[in-house]
Amino acid sequence: MESRADEFRAGVRLWLEQSCPASMRAPAGDAEDGVWGGTKSPPVDPDARTWLDRMAARGWTAPSWPREYGGGGLSDAEARILREEMRQLGCRPPLKSLGLWMLGPALLGYGTEEQKREHLPKITRGEVRWCQGYSEPEAGSDLASLRTRAVLDGDAYVVNGRKMWTSHAHLADWMFCLVRTDPDAPKHQGVSFLLVDMSSPGVAVRPIRLISGASPFCETTFDDVRVPARNLVGEPNRGWEVAKVVLEHERALISDMRDQRSSEGDALQDLARAYGVVGDAVLRDRIARLNLDLLAYRLTVARAREVSGGRPGPETSVLKLYGTEVSKRRHELMISIAGYRGLGWSGESFSASELSRTRAWLRSRASSIEGGSSEIQLNIIAKRVLGLPD
Ligand SMILES: Cc1cc2nc3c(=O)[nH]c(=O)nc-3n(C[C@H](O)[C@H](O)[C@H](O)COP(=O)(O)OP(=O)(O)OC[C@H]3O[C@@H](n4cnc5c(N)ncnc54)[C@H](O)[C@@H]3O)c2cc1C
Repeated sequence: MESRADEFRAGVRLWLEQSCPASMRAPAGDAEDGVWGGTKSPPVDPDARTWLDRMAARGWTAPSWPREYGGGGLSDAEARILREEMRQLGCRPPLKSLGLWMLGPALLGYGTEEQKREHLPKITRGEVRWCQGYSEPEAGSDLASLRTRAVLDGDAYVVNGRKMWTSHAHLADWMFCLVRTDPDAPKHQGVSFLLVDMSSPGVAVRPIRLISGASPFCETTFDDVRVPARNLVGEPNRGWEVAKVVLEHERALISDMRDQRSSEGDALQDLARAYGVVGDAVLRDRIARLNLDLLAYRLTVARAREVSGGRPGPETSVLKLYGTEVSKRRHELMISIAGYRGLGWSGESFSASELSRTRAWLRSRASSIEGGSSEIQLNIIAKRVLGLPD
């Protein structure tokens, strides 16, 4: 007899087969590709729009969020089945969004009813794009040293300060950010979590140009920006609690993405064959070790998800650390396999896949910095997971 789970799986598969346009069943070319939503992003392909609208109408852009906030109301087990079936059919995520991945879970836990009803449905439909305003010029790894000030004045906070490395701030409609509301309290205790409309007077965004050219990074400044006090999430001066939840979700996301991307693209052995180096004993040894490490990592991610029901905690730092480090090794190995052809940056003497491999190799290094560097993950594992003394 068919169990309820089997029945649910069969229904999901049928619906996905009928609803996911064929062009949305191939992997996206680049990690930045896909629909990011909001009012300022470039127009999207009609199939991508259709796919997003169909998934959002079912609440499946946020499968386990409650229905009243635009989610699908699925249990953990049902959400897992949906993920598995999407993976099986090769369906792309319909929406990529910091709102879905990072802010939403924090709002579900700490937001007021009004905040949830105002923001969550727009996130699930991709109507609003969010950016993350955490890092500052003197506060990266030591995030709690942040100095952007928010002073309560009547029914609004007046915000002044500067955020750095705000990815895609120029395309975002709103920012979730950390501000200092009590400069006299110990540094973790004087921080609050605020939601800021990027169109507020006094917000300025300056894209940052890197040595490699244009980048998604921006510097965001606040000059006497008035933010309604109702946009404070959680208690005043207790924003660090909310910030940690967001960071745990960010780290889970980074390890998930590394996991997904490591199963895409050419297998290392096929690449070695294509470049005529498959007989090289040293490379063969590196490929075998890496494939085993990746397999072990992928199984560990799946087991951890099973045990935690998809709710990350400080243990997520273990996956973030290992996932990003193994991903760097994988990209380095691909470059070694391709030899000098692995170092092309532009020009016609390199194929498109060689050029994108070089960029992916360099991008893999950023993942062990964003969301807290590898050294910071080691500190968290030592203190919060293993309980070692300072
Ligand atoms: C791709 C990418 C996207 C990003 N997007 C955003 C974003 O959208 N919003 C945002 O707010 N920020 C963003 N960031 C910034 C990111 O959070 C910071 O770069 C990161 O936290 C490190 O801070 P930092 O760059 O100031 O380096 P620093 O803190 O100056 O660290 C420099 C080096 O010192 C080491 N170090 C520092 N402190 C310690 C310690 N206590 N123990 C051991 N080693 C230590 C670090 O590991 C690192 O190697 C992004 C970064 C990247 C790479």
